[in-house]
Amino acid sequence: EESSEALNPIKIAETGSHFDQLWDISLRARIDEAMEAGEIYCVYQPKIDTMHNTMTGVEALVRWHDPARGFIPPMHFIAQCEKAGRMEHLTRYVLQSACSAARLMHFRGRTVSMSVNMSATLLGDMRIVGIVRNALQASGFDPRFLILEVTETSRIGDLATASTILNELKALGVRISMDDFGTGAANYETFFELPFDELKIDRLFVSNLAKSQKAKAIAASVVAMGKEARITIVAEGAEDTETLKILNEIGCHYVQGYVLSRPLSLTNLLKFNASDKDDALEA
Ligand code: C2E
Ligand code: MG
Ligand code: MG
Ligand code: MG
Repeated sequence: EESSEALNPIKIAETGSHFDQLWDISLRARIDEAMEAGEIYCVYQPKIDTMHNTMTGVEALVRWHDPARGFIPPMHFIAQCEKAGRMEHLTRYVLQSACSAARLMHFRGRTVSMSVNMSATLLGDMRIVGIVRNALQASGFDPRFLILEVTETSRIGDLATASTILNELKALGVRISMDDFGTGAANYETFFELPFDELKIDRLFVSNLAKSQKAKAIAASVVAMGKEARITIVAEGAEDTETLKILNEIGCHYVQGYVLSRPLSLTNLLKFNASDKDDALEA
């Protein structure tokens, strides 16, 4: 099936060079092996409460370092994973890594939440509930500290099914977050229909706060809506202190971004202190 796609000249013309296609096909073929070999792993980006200057949570972000190809951007290999029908498997792997990392954090006395990204395409099938339940049981991690960030919500096929699945997940005790809010990929209708506990303002708006009155107005209205609806609002992608100042001004106190910390290896995460400033390097 895959090779006939690769040899289809129309497909090749539409989607890029033959080389790109072969590259992606061999990438897809290596996903499982890469997980087993530990080439795929997680880094963790702190989520900071800027009012109290404390780390309240971390987000697991998947990485693939292939010994031959080098570093493969997550957006790219996640799309390939999806094509290869291995998203469930990747999510299971990330959940297991993230829950055991979080369990270790708690054991060290740092009771942070752990956010795991979950592709919206998994919200069409009840199997994701069992996958999350198993990861929680296997790690012994307290479900109340797990947050599932639904990414690419525009790809939810059926809102009613997604809603049923999210409610089943919430029944396990976990919280649900809507990622990248404000972009075409995440809109008000989806937000209205689904049981979200948290909403993340997309980096597009956050990175423009200092330069654009419109970006600031949108972010401020999302924060106000969050207060009214009792939803936690998180800003992603804050890169400078000017942006932090504006977020504080509009009442958005949960922030992630390079200005606070890059994603960190578990070792560096365990050493991370929100009041230090020299931890801002990944890995
Ligand atoms: P996301 O969930 O919105 O994650 C935030 C992305 O912004 C991450 O990119 C992070 O490294 C980056 N970031 C954080 N702070 C800053 C900043 O101040 N400036 C800039 N320029 N970037 C910042 P990353 O790790 O490349 O991940 C990209 C996307 O890939 C994620 O966006 C998420 O949608 C997806 N992703 C990552 N890990 C997973 C996973 O385990 N499962 C799934 N399904 N998707 C994942
Ligand atoms: Mg995310
Ligand atoms: Mg995000
Ligand atoms: Mg984003």
